[in-house]
Amino acid sequence: MTTPSSPATSATSNGESLDTAADQEGYLCQVNTHVSCGACCGLYNVRVASRDALVSILRARTEQFRKIPRTVDAIFDFKKNVETREGLERPMPEFHHCPFLGLIGPEHATVGCLLHPQGEGNNGMDFRSVSYYGGMTCHIYYCPSTRLLPLRYRQIIRSVMDDWYLYGLIVTETKLLQAFFEELEDRMNRPLYAQDFTTCHASREALKHLFLLRVSWPFRSPDNHRVANYFFNDHLYTRPSLAVHWKGRGISRYRLILEELETDPVCEHALRQAELYLDDRFKQVQHALETA
Ligand code: SF4
Ligand code: SF4
Repeated sequence: MTTPSSPATSATSNGESLDTAADQEGYLCQVNTHVSCGACCGLYNVRVASRDALVSILRARTEQFRKIPRTVDAIFDFKKNVETREGLERPMPEFHHCPFLGLIGPEHATVGCLLHPQGEGNNGMDFRSVSYYGGMTCHIYYCPSTRLLPLRYRQIIRSVMDDWYLYGLIVTETKLLQAFFEELEDRMNRPLYAQDFTTCHASREALKHLFLLRVSWPFRSPDNHRVANYFFNDHLYTRPSLAVHWKGRGISRYRLILEELETDPVCEHALRQAELYLDDRFKQVQHALETA
């Protein structure tokens, strides 16, 4: 879960080398003054999960939280107030959206936990025990990407992203990211490292463009309004399999990617188009890497 201040003090999204311990360890929750994640706190599980809509609710919470005394009663009143104002309707009703997510950091430009001991006005006190998950879970939980993605992939992701909104959406996509990188490494016939992107603007932009598919994939069903990714072990909200639609034909090399992007299997023609679309995005990254 989120912490309010990053151990990383120098961003790598501007082409600098991997020069902090957090960079070297591939720490994913907090990256720099513009990149952090609140996905496991349910950040994107709101009715309207556009960047503007999230900034608006997070800003209002942060302003309000700044003014309240740090007492349990006042914090509970704050929670009630937020939930009354914003409503409790969720695209994934079983995925808790924490009302204590706000904007943190020196510029209030990243998402993070208002109850954390390092939070503004908390004077070192940890108030996370009043949250839905409780202080211990908030303190120790780490999502699958933090444990399962190879270090070099985590370092690449840290090094290319420059905004928390897309970062928090892509960073939890363990299978999708693994498949993206494996496809690119297959095309390049070598492992990829953060330096491939920190030293080349075109490669960095092309990779971000590939990651952008997470929010702009044109082959999703128009009725699918769920933006959040549910990555917990109970698999309450799984993604539909495309297996039945590939029956009797060669399975697409992109099947896993198509499933993770929640492709709508309306017709064979659309699936072929989706493959070509993906192919084009991969070629863009490959070309940038080859000409770097
Ligand atoms: S979803 Fe993962 S990367 Fe994001 S804050 Fe939670 S543990 Fe960290
Ligand atoms: S209280 Fe826990 S769930 Fe809520 S924002 Fe903080 S870390 Fe996340």
